[in-house]
Amino acid sequence: MSTINGFATGFPTVPTAQLSRHAATFRPIAAARLNSSAATPPAPPTLIRNEPVFAAPAPNVYPLWRKEIGKESYEEAIAGLQKLLSEKRELGAVAAAKIDEVTAELQTASGSSDGGGAVLSASVERLKTGFTTFKKGKYDKRPGLFSELARGQSPKYMVFACSDSRVCPSHVLDFELGEAFVVRNVANMVPEYDKTKYCGVGAAIEFAVLHLKVQEIVVIGHSACGGIKGLMSFPYDGSSSTDFIEDWVKICLPAKAKVLAEHGDAPFGDQCAFCEKEAVSVSLGNLLSYPFVREGLVNGSLALKGGYYDFVKGTFELWSLQFSLSPSLCVA
Ligand SMILES: [Zn+2]
Repeated sequence: MSTINGFATGFPTVPTAQLSRHAATFRPIAAARLNSSAATPPAPPTLIRNEPVFAAPAPNVYPLWRKEIGKESYEEAIAGLQKLLSEKRELGAVAAAKIDEVTAELQTASGSSDGGGAVLSASVERLKTGFTTFKKGKYDKRPGLFSELARGQSPKYMVFACSDSRVCPSHVLDFELGEAFVVRNVANMVPEYDKTKYCGVGAAIEFAVLHLKVQEIVVIGHSACGGIKGLMSFPYDGSSSTDFIEDWVKICLPAKAKVLAEHGDAPFGDQCAFCEKEAVSVSLGNLLSYPFVREGLVNGSLALKGGYYDFVKGTFELWSLQFSLSPSLCVA
């Protein structure tokens, strides 16, 4: 890949097997290198853990608490947590922290009701500060933009990005509000057209293409993706260790199969990196199974692109999917 003034062009290592059945090919657009010292990439932030997404035991606590808090009093919720604490000793630290948080919320509610003395938890304070910063720094300073957005939206892009907290496309690509209609899910996957499954994704694509009339759909993969690591790790031998994750990420099983066939001897980390790009290609191919996407491609009103954000190296690659119809064959 050649580099000119900080921008590199060249073919990314992206598969075409999944797309070949749709007569589609990739054409590289550009790869922007965000830091000039490519030979010595900066050390990743210490917050990066990239542990398997299916290994964390703690989330079981939260849905239970949220469910109960909606129909019962704070006191009953705390009693429920204490019961949980006694039943699951391994969750003791998590439950104790949650009890403290609920107690703080209770104090906040009591303080608000009598008009003073409110004690906000740190998490609530953070959200409050965040919105205040946005309101004063952006909303109040751009009345023209926000009055326009109040009338409606007309985003140019539909973006599929991972739910990973490190890869927000509005940050990475500096999108303005109203510029991108974004779907984020585990490992930025697009399933094939299926009216009985994944209807949330289907509804988003239908709305974006037919009603918002977006001009580009961009699927963006990223480095150190926990969802892709899960896909590469799960045995898919009939056993299951998750409620949802294995079934979701198997959307891109063709990418895993291609990586294992072509890079079976590579270290696991390298296989995951290959699969992060292969999975984008599978998703681009799956987009072609939506009739309104195909129609947009044929009439030239819609384009598909794949992207890859490497937050360790500070680079972004972009490539396009070209779609063409073969001329009809007439034998006299
Ligand atoms: Zn991810």
